[in-house]
Amino acid sequence: MRIQKKKKKKEGPNEINEDVTVWLDQYFCDQHTSIHVFDMDSIGDNLDSRVKLAQYQEQSKLKQWAPVHNLSLLDSTHWYHGMALVVMADNDLRREVTSLFHDHKTAGHARITKTLQLILPYYWWPRMKIFVTEYIKGCATCQMTKVNTHPTHPPMFPITPTENA
Ligand SMILES: [Zn+2]
Repeated sequence: MRIQKKKKKKEGPNEINEDVTVWLDQYFCDQHTSIHVFDMDSIGDNLDSRVKLAQYQEQSKLKQWAPVHNLSLLDSTHWYHGMALVVMADNDLRREVTSLFHDHKTAGHARITKTLQLILPYYWWPRMKIFVTEYIKGCATCQMTKVNTHPTHPPMFPITPTENA
């Protein structure tokens, strides 16, 4: 929905503009007239359909993977690993899946093992542990908030300023 800006009536020689309410431009901006609502379910659904779409183009690869990775064709159209949808290697889908479970605003930047546990019921791809590990290593938020496991020890002797300093 967009709020229409009221146009100022063109001033004719004999016209009076009393009845026109003029909304100043400052009351409008694109960010506030279009409201986007994100929720986890709609993002998940959308991702699901894109993951499925990506499978269509990779049928031959999926058939090769099937016996090696124990994949099964459920609902006779889509490939699954257990109950998890197989994510092909194309167009950043794997990054999006990982992001959804790791750093989406409702996700809490879980560690590698926990993030994997969260993804596994829904999505799977070969060597996903390596992928998720690399992804989290590159997560700026995780790098900033990383717990310091090697705190520096306080100096053994207090440092006193030298007299001539
Ligand atoms: Zn993170």
